[in-house]
Amino acid sequence: MNVMDAMRFIESEFIIINSTPCSVCGGHYITESSGFHVADHAAMNVTSCYCERCGSRKDFSFRAPQISSMDPSTSIQLN
Ligand SMILES: [Zn+2]
Repeated sequence: MNVMDAMRFIESEFIIINSTPCSVCGGHYITESSGFHVADHAAMNVTSCYCERCGSRKDFSFRAPQISSMDPSTSIQLN
């Protein structure tokens, strides 16, 4: 995965998060943290968000692209 692929992947995540209304009040979610973890032999990128209006929390999970080619010391958390 090159830098452009990584940017497209991250960009698509933000589009999904920005287009998802809060399930409680319909407000917008704000990204709090993001990290990779591995579950069921699949790398997932989990982004923790909270609602800007009511504070309701939601975790967005995305299937991560091939991350093995990326330097694990750069902003990837493998739990
Ligand atoms: Zn809300």
